[in-house]
Amino acid sequence: MALVNIHFLNLQNNYLFADIAKKVNAFKVMHPKADIISLGIGDVTQPLCPAVIEAMHRASDEMASVQGFHGYGPEQGYDFLRKAILKNDFLPRGVHLDVDEIFINDGAKSDTGNFQELLHWDNFIGVTDPIYPVYIDSNVMIGRCGTFEDGRWSRVVYMPCNAENNFVPEIPKGRHMDVIYLCYPNNPTGTVITKDELRKWVNYALKNDALILYDAAYQAYIQDDDIPHSIYEIRGARKCAIEFRSYSKTAGFTGIRCGYTVVPKDVSVADFEGERFPLNQLWLRRQCTKFNGTSYISQRAAEAIYTPEGKQQVKATIDYYMQNAHLMLKTLRSLGYEVYGGEHAPYIWMKTPGNTGSWKFFEELLYGANVVCTPGVGFGPSGEGYVRFTAFGTHEQTEEALRRIEYWTKQTF
Ligand SMILES: *Cc1c(COP(=O)(O)O)cnc(C)c1O
Repeated sequence: MALVNIHFLNLQNNYLFADIAKKVNAFKVMHPKADIISLGIGDVTQPLCPAVIEAMHRASDEMASVQGFHGYGPEQGYDFLRKAILKNDFLPRGVHLDVDEIFINDGAKSDTGNFQELLHWDNFIGVTDPIYPVYIDSNVMIGRCGTFEDGRWSRVVYMPCNAENNFVPEIPKGRHMDVIYLCYPNNPTGTVITKDELRKWVNYALKNDALILYDAAYQAYIQDDDIPHSIYEIRGARKCAIEFRSYSKTAGFTGIRCGYTVVPKDVSVADFEGERFPLNQLWLRRQCTKFNGTSYISQRAAEAIYTPEGKQQVKATIDYYMQNAHLMLKTLRSLGYEVYGGEHAPYIWMKTPGNTGSWKFFEELLYGANVVCTPGVGFGPSGEGYVRFTAFGTHEQTEEALRRIEYWTKQTF
């Protein structure tokens, strides 16, 4: 008899974006003519830049000849891309890494979900709350999170981030954590972390022999040089942290699929006897067994982001989205809303007026202004009473959505 992995049955059924789609569809059935603008899902809208497109054309042409054909590549990625990463993403920020510490992947979602496979099932995990749902769900699948009650898993430490603490999570006293997920710039709140704050986490991890899984998928949106782009800008992080990067939001690769994970050789985990095991070797072993590499064409596309033209074109698209973010911040503030994020990230995190529940506000905005947002509570219990807007729309959509929100707000409140 084939038995089910019972941990999968513990997953909370509702996938946030499926729930949103259901509610939007219900609205459409009743209002078939309504023109809905979505500032909900975190997908990008602008096309790939010319440097990337040209690199992909060249790579496909190479594949057409016997000499240029590329079959299976190295599981950990081609050296041309790994070297470009070291030279462009880390060296300019004073971070020295080795080529063997970079693992190219098909996007950060898979690796943020898969990495926990290397860790014993009864590690206690800590997450900032609200968070990207993949971190918790992938741990639930392996049975690490305990039971679900009142919106919380029993074996997960939640560190609230809200307006009261200015979205700076506190390290909880008296609650032990073995593995900590941090995401900066943050999805969903759009907030960032200072070097001093990040240093506290690195020091905690070093002192308590904990592991930090650091998701830097949005680092390209940081506008201020003093804000850390990588956790390895903090001394000691190469002993306790793994970092995930993605080209999805950086360069519109959501449909191309390429990113990378940094696993420094100095990070190790222990067994019960105290023997240490470097995660770099374990991850290499895991990838060689379960992953056959990212496509050659995608890796050539990613390499093109680091050319002078590529850099400039990618920055132009990021500036485009950040113009949306600035307009959203300005307009929503002028209407009296409390808004956060949006300065170094493509997300605006908004407090609902009068403590309205996230889902209730979502529906009011949908029915009143025909604009879709994402209910904050879908990202964790501390997201209740907030909603997320993305700056990934076109200028036209964003301006129109803001006009509608303005009209609706003035009529309603
Ligand atoms: C979008 C996103 C990712 C990247 O996903 P890909 O699989 O690389 O497309 C990773 N982490 C967070 C927090 C994200 O929002």
